[in-house]
Amino acid sequence: MGRFDTERKELIEVLRGKGITDETVLTAMSRVERHLFVDPMYINKAYDDNALPIGSQQTISQPFTVAFMTQALKLNKDMKVLEIGTGSGYQAAVLAMIGCRVFTIERHISLLNNARKIFDGLNLRIVAKGGDGTIGWTEHAPYDAIIVTAGAPNVPDSLVNQLKEGGRLAIPVGGRDAQQLVIGTMTNGILEKQIVEGFKFVPLIGKNGWN
Ligand code: SAH
Repeated sequence: MGRFDTERKELIEVLRGKGITDETVLTAMSRVERHLFVDPMYINKAYDDNALPIGSQQTISQPFTVAFMTQALKLNKDMKVLEIGTGSGYQAAVLAMIGCRVFTIERHISLLNNARKIFDGLNLRIVAKGGDGTIGWTEHAPYDAIIVTAGAPNVPDSLVNQLKEGGRLAIPVGGRDAQQLVIGTMTNGILEKQIVEGFKFVPLIGKNGWN
């Protein structure tokens, strides 16, 4: 047994209790060691179902939020996924643990470098770069799924245009302080949207985000 194995198992049961049912997501989250992605100062809180500070005024998302968004994407192994907002790297690691090919973009270079160091040790299929993710990453488009882990003022067309037919998008949209989660499916070239209330993210800052 590794350190925090018991705590991680308990977290998975908490997520089940909150309505997460996708076993692919739950299995991936039972394998990614969240304590590697949090500030050592908060290591004993790594398996609480809460967001935590990661520096540069950013946060590692709440495990429930990671589970909910990942479940909404309906992912399978080998799918190509773009993440905007690498942050700690935890969400990207969960996507890669499912077996997806993950491309992730972070605007804070110190966070990017820290996440890269963790990725290097885990041997996962993740390619990370610094920059403004609101314009997407055209070189690897189109994607089976795009996940935005920061709150946007609206759904950027630039990202919708990089989705495959049938591809799925999860993005928090709303004001700076609270957002709705928009879950979109590209259907006959149009993004069909479903809205889920009650999420709170740090702001998405960039050309097609906040100033
Ligand atoms: N997925 C992360 C969540 C980090 S919080 C995790 O699992 O830890 C959201 C992140 O989005 C922050 O690190 C923030 O710096 C980043 N971000 C905000 N706007 C961005 C943009 N335009 N491009 C790339 N990253 C952005």
